[in-house]
Formats: sequence, structure tokens, C-alpha cells
Amino acid sequence: MRALFTFLAAATLPGCAGPGSYTPTPRGPYVVVLGTAQDAGLPQIGCLEERCVRARKHPQERRLVTSLLLADPRTGKRWLFDATPDIREQVTRAAPHPPTRSFSGPRPPLFDGLFLTHAHMGHYTGLLHLGPEAYGAKDLPVYVSTRFDTFLRQNGPWSLLVDAGVIRPEEILQDERITLGENLFVRALVVPHRDEFTDTLAFIIEGPRESLLYLPDIDKWERWSTPIEEVLARVDHALLDGAFYTADEIPGRDLSEIPHPLITESLARFAPLPASERRKVLFTHLNHTNPACDSGSPADLEIGNAGMGVARDGIIFEL
Ligand SMILES: [Zn+2]
Ligand SMILES: [Zn+2]
Repeated sequence: MRALFTFLAAATLPGCAGPGSYTPTPRGPYVVVLGTAQDAGLPQIGCLEERCVRARKHPQERRLVTSLLLADPRTGKRWLFDATPDIREQVTRAAPHPPTRSFSGPRPPLFDGLFLTHAHMGHYTGLLHLGPEAYGAKDLPVYVSTRFDTFLRQNGPWSLLVDAGVIRPEEILQDERITLGENLFVRALVVPHRDEFTDTLAFIIEGPRESLLYLPDIDKWERWSTPIEEVLARVDHALLDGAFYTADEIPGRDLSEIPHPLITESLARFAPLPASERRKVLFTHLNHTNPACDSGSPADLEIGNAGMGVARDGIIFEL
């Protein structure tokens, strides 16, 4: 497992990571985890529960909304996976990546492309920061499902971004492989999720040496015609939907209306797999109520004892 568990400060290069840690500068493509929280982040707006209060006091306890940066030092290019409500801070955190990125002028192109999983709050509303009121991007390729492509083109305010040439939606089909560089590919998988406006994609990023599955939202593993174990067997790392730890986490809320695989269900499902498979799994997209947000908590330890882990903002995977 080549994942480098590095908590990156805003302006650290991969070669000089946060306090007390050192990682060599990746020479090949790598992924930086820019966020690991459910759509509304941690702390969540107006929440006075202890975890959110603590996260306001201690920035290291915060989690930005789930997102990844794929960086390729060989070409200086980079791509964003999901455009979240935290995109402003995530662009700052992405600034040093890759170190070979060359640009001139005060407003260089932000990314060489975006990949969006689906049209829920945490995964695409950051697009608004690309428009003329903010960054004013130009002709930015945005890879989305066919239904998402239509949604962006036919509904405001997103259609304004398309019509003004800020973003250029590009359809990515089930199992289609997009080439981003030499031995660097992204493949899309359609997964079952509350599909009000769009369907929902997961992505497999394949690098020259390793691959990573990004699957932040799915209703339940059993509702997917593809067994998750089959996909897990094809990759080296998997960032999986870990929104809730147990069903009683949100009092007064019916979790059947917002289904996700509970982490306890995932632990039980993956228990029969060999340790080499379980080791690939890191849970992400954590709701602010999820006790696995707290490192060293009983929930976090239970996940570790089951041979899996919890993703943290700032970790890097060399691919
Ligand atoms: Zn989500
Ligand atoms: Zn969702």
C-alpha cells in the first residue's frame, strides 16, 4: 500500500509535508484528498453538537466536503473530482500540486478538467465559484454522465455557465476510459443513489502503478448490480461512502430516506475478505454526526481493528 498518510498544511509541497512527517516528492501521478466530509462539511452550519463546536475551535478537527485532486508532475496538469461548497479553500490547498505546474499571470487556469459524481449539494455547487462573479473560468471541461450533461445545459444557474463558455460539459459513459496522460486514465461506473436530477457516478483513477476507486455516495451495496468486492479486487485503494456509522446517529430522521451503507454494515460485509482486500478500504464522505470523524474514538478503533481505515483531509496516494 503506497498511500502516504500526510496531513498537508495549505502551502506544503509533497516533498515537505506537515510537521513531523516527510514524504518524497511524487514523480508520477498522485491524488491529494481535499475533503472527507459529507456534503455539508464538518462543522455543519448552525450545529451545536460537541463535535461541530470542537471543530470550530480546532481547525485540525475540521473536514472539508469530499473531493480529490489528481496531479501529474510529468505534465504539470491536474484535475478536480467533485466541485464542493468548500472549493475556495480546496483550491488554496491544491495550490502546490503538482509542483511542476507552470502558469503565468494572476489568474491561471484552475484545473485541466473536472469530474463530477452527481448533482447533490456537496458534489457540484462549487461550480458557481467558476462563473463570472468569481473566477471566470474559460472552457473548462467538466466530465459528467449523460443525464448530468443535460441537467447542466437545461437548468439555471448552471446553463449560464455553459452558455457563457465557463464550463464545457463532456459526457462520460459507463465503463468509458478517459485518457489524461501516459498510463493515466479515469473510468466511470454508474452506482445507485437518490437520482433526483442526475444519475450518480463513481470513478476509478488508474495510474502507471496503482489505481484508486472514488465512490463517495451510494444507497446500499446490495442495490448495486456490481458486487463492490469485484470492483475492490480491481483497484489498489478505495475511498468509499462512510456517511453514517450506525442507524441511530441522527435522532428523529428516517435514514431510509437518505440511504447509505452504514460503516457497521460495510465492516460486516467486508469481514470475510482477505486482509489484503480490507486494507484498501478508507471511509470518506463522513456526516458530522459520525463518531468515526474523531481519530482514536471507539468507532475509529473498530474500523482499524477490522483492517480498514478512515480517510483524512490531506492524505496523498501515489498512483
Ligand atoms: Zn454526498
Ligand atoms: Zn448524494
